Amino acid sequence: SVRVRFAPSPTGPLHLGGIRTALYNYLFAKKHGGKFILRIEDTDRKRFIENSESYILETLKWCHIEPDEGVGYGGPYFPYYQSKRINIYRLYINKLLKKGNAYYAFDTDQDLDKKRKEYNHRGLTFSYNSRIRMKLNNSLSMTKEQLHDKLRSCSYVVRFKIEPGKKLKMYDIIRGNIIVDTDHLDDKILLKSDGGVTYHLANTIDDFLMKITHVIRGEEWIPSMSLHVLLYKSLGWTPPHFAHLPLILKNDGRGKISKRNTDSFNFPIYPIQWKNPKTKTIIPGYRELGYFPEAFVNMLALLGWNPGGEREVFSLQELINLFSLEKIKKSGVFFDIKKANWFNKKYLNEKKEKIFSFLFEKIKTRSILCKKDYLWKVIYLTINRIHFIHEIWEHSFYFFISPSSYDVHFFNKICHENTISQLENAKILLYKINAFTSFNLKFLFQKTKNKHQIMQLFRLALVGFLKGIDIFIIFEMIGKKESMQRIEKLIN
Ligand code: ATP
Ligand code: GLU
Repeated sequence: SVRVRFAPSPTGPLHLGGIRTALYNYLFAKKHGGKFILRIEDTDRKRFIENSESYILETLKWCHIEPDEGVGYGGPYFPYYQSKRINIYRLYINKLLKKGNAYYAFDTDQDLDKKRKEYNHRGLTFSYNSRIRMKLNNSLSMTKEQLHDKLRSCSYVVRFKIEPGKKLKMYDIIRGNIIVDTDHLDDKILLKSDGGVTYHLANTIDDFLMKITHVIRGEEWIPSMSLHVLLYKSLGWTPPHFAHLPLILKNDGRGKISKRNTDSFNFPIYPIQWKNPKTKTIIPGYRELGYFPEAFVNMLALLGWNPGGEREVFSLQELINLFSLEKIKKSGVFFDIKKANWFNKKYLNEKKEKIFSFLFEKIKTRSILCKKDYLWKVIYLTINRIHFIHEIWEHSFYFFISPSSYDVHFFNKICHENTISQLENAKILLYKINAFTSFNLKFLFQKTKNKHQIMQLFRLALVGFLKGIDIFIIFEMIGKKESMQRIEKLIN
């Protein structure tokens, strides 16, 4: 059965790219009745940032895409932290050494730097590979005794030995066939000189031991795919299926969204707020900015994938039912904040109770008394104008309170002696109406001279700005007495 994993490194918060990778893994697992696993890839201790793990867990929870197994959830293949699996990895490194698929290398950083410079000088690129490995300082050119001595006296790394002259045929579900000439590969380090293992080794061993069937991750890992497949083969294992996702790109088209360059975005990149443990700064995420998790996830799912057709709004269950790796785009995707807002708006209708509570709190703190029905009416009248719950007040305050100031620009433009006398006349007309309904009012002012100007004056009086819903509906909602008072206030 399908088993997929999301394998972030705890080197900071997740961003849009990371969480989308998690989402696609989740959707794929659920679609096939499989398991979604969370593994923390913390082999690079230098880049470790303390609260990244809790950030990842909280984000997955907020998005309602929780793992079935892994860090925070347990499971049969624990531990799910790579830092706690070093002994397991060593076992496999020894196997590879024994089988002749890996070797010890003693070259110091200075040696390698020197080589690099030499090559550069000759217009070549230095690469630790089959062509030159025999000339370097490693176990391939040593007797058993020499090796024994070296291992005791020097620090070393273990490198994977790539067999040259082969055409490695691989298949990626999104990109199709990929053929790599092994002559172009170098002998990557598996065990570092500090005793730690590299990402490549840990990742491959874990995917095998955790019975991962599909590796779904960002396309920046395509160049590593051959190494991973060769590691599988050397250990006598069958590689999993691979699907490399298109990256989410920065608006300027220069590179992918990444933790390492977060300053140059003009849109939020974090799902939930990130408190930087070093600088103590807080960067708000989509959650804090008022996006609903359903809308966020829906938007994210369609960033690089769509099921075909015009429809764009899908519940999580619908996304699961429709999801397929084959329909993922090949090219990178640009993020559009306007589209994200559009998605949020689409989910507002389901959130009316929350809008109600928000509005209720607003008027409570202002000690305004009003009936529940009235609040509901206000919501129905203004919901189309907002994208976020917190925007409701700025679009509806005038149903509850008289404007405390007027738009200066329009006030100066339309309020002068002549127009004020027009307003006086209009006020008299209004006063005469008993059934103060929008229908009656509209009828009454249908043929008025200077209608446009009078409507603007009304709006200024009732709302304070030249915005808001149909003016006659505002009249009806706030009632005759309040309307007259607001007009009076403007006149004086
Ligand atoms: P770093 O800045 O350290 O390289 P990162 O921003 O690449 O970090 P990771 O935590 O390493 O983020 O990535 C987590 C997952 O998200 C990986 O599967 C990775 O392939 C994927 N990913 C990273 N950046 C993007 C992106 N811009 N678009 C899509 N997926 C991404
Ligand atoms: N730890 C890697 C990353 O965060 C995982 C890559 C993979 O999924 O294999 O990018």
